[in-house]
Amino acid sequence: MAAQKDKVVIIGSGWGGYSLGYGIDHNKYDVTLISPENTSAVTPLLASAACGLFDPRLAHEPLRRRDFHAKYYKALVVDIDFDTKTLICQPAFDELTDERFNVDYDKVILVPGCRTNTFGIPGVTENAIFVKNVANANAVRSRLNDILEMASLPGTSEDRQRQLLHVAIVGGGPTGIEMAAELTDLFNGDANVLFPHLKGKASVSVYDVAPHILAPFDQKLAEYATSALKKGRVNIKTNTHILKVTQNTIETQEDGATGYGMLIWATGNNSVPLVDKLNLRKTEKGLVRILTDDRLNAFAPDGNALRNVFAMGDAADIEGGTLPTTAEVAIQKADYIINVLNKNDTSPFAYKQRSLVTYTGRRDGVVQGKREYTGYGAWLSWRSGNFFWTRSWRRRILMCYAWLMDWLDGREIIRN
Ligand SMILES: Cc1cc2nc3c(=O)[nH]c(=O)nc-3n(C[C@H](O)[C@H](O)[C@H](O)COP(=O)(O)OP(=O)(O)OC[C@H]3O[C@@H](n4cnc5c(N)ncnc54)[C@H](O)[C@@H]3O)c2cc1C
Repeated sequence: MAAQKDKVVIIGSGWGGYSLGYGIDHNKYDVTLISPENTSAVTPLLASAACGLFDPRLAHEPLRRRDFHAKYYKALVVDIDFDTKTLICQPAFDELTDERFNVDYDKVILVPGCRTNTFGIPGVTENAIFVKNVANANAVRSRLNDILEMASLPGTSEDRQRQLLHVAIVGGGPTGIEMAAELTDLFNGDANVLFPHLKGKASVSVYDVAPHILAPFDQKLAEYATSALKKGRVNIKTNTHILKVTQNTIETQEDGATGYGMLIWATGNNSVPLVDKLNLRKTEKGLVRILTDDRLNAFAPDGNALRNVFAMGDAADIEGGTLPTTAEVAIQKADYIINVLNKNDTSPFAYKQRSLVTYTGRRDGVVQGKREYTGYGAWLSWRSGNFFWTRSWRRRILMCYAWLMDWLDGREIIRN
């Protein structure tokens, strides 16, 4: 009789979970992936998808493909009993259910990511659109559609048109800046062709509490990005504190209330309920993350590393060696765990810093890495990076086709 394979369970289907689900050798292990989503968001593509560069469905990958050999359960892990090695799961469907089921493991990999942090600011949850997944990209696209059509109705005053066409983005990190860049390209390009009567009336503002945008970049590149965005007529509002938001206004300590037609919340990470609940050692300051050693093993409360419990991605950090919450880190950690499991690699995890790239609109951008550069080359790096982030040949082909159609016939923004 064949020897029983060890059961490896992965929690989460984001950048980390998806890579693990495909990479862990199913001939050696009995692999199960549990996540409420049976797709994996290609987050760097969300801003472009939201602004009509391609069908938003291209910005996520389905988990179940012909070459996916793991088991998958569409559920949330609500608790873990580390003594009996049991996961307590709740099915994740629209119909509310109290049903629970248990899944046993020999090794578990925690990759449940983070959720958006609203910092308790009143009105954000009810009125802002977040940018975490394809449903959010669709919500941006649908709202864009509405504000352009509402501003086109007869009898709409110019003040009302300007308010409707004001997009407020909170967060001056790469996500907020790329969203601002894509929106200004749209407002200065295809939207002018499809809505010539609205020309010059749309605007984009980026709000951030920090003194500079693009905190992960050198100050020189951040300043370059600021002036590039201003040339595209983006209002950069740094050192700005948001007090509250309503259905159509954003109120700051510095400027009072300003009207908007769409509010995009692109800042802040908060821990997911599972991370809050688990009795493991966690970071003490800022975002709550599970602490691991340099083999990515989580620590029990007594400080002992649990050799059969790995934690990685946005939800975890290595003790004494903080790494950012990026897909790059999640992918490298997933590759490391795949090597540990498939090849019994015993070396510690070592992170290799890759280039940072951000688009600033009008075919301009900033790149920081071995070489720093800006301009058209940076835009090319960003666009080709978008292409390489995509994880299946099928989606790459569809994306090239969409870009060709955009070039020949303009973007299809008025279609969800
Ligand atoms: C718009 C945007 C653009 C970005 N661009 C870049 C970029 O250009 N480069 C870069 O390096 N990084 C980028 N990032 C950051 C990157 O997306 C994250 O760092 C990355 O997604 C983290 O991967 P993860 O697997 O840890 O978590 P996630 O990708 O967030 O996935 C977590 C998964 O766990 C699931 N889950 C949560 N709780 C449970 C539970 N209790 N049980 C089961 N499953 C659960 C979630 O549903 C989800 O499927 C971007 C992020 C955003 C939002």
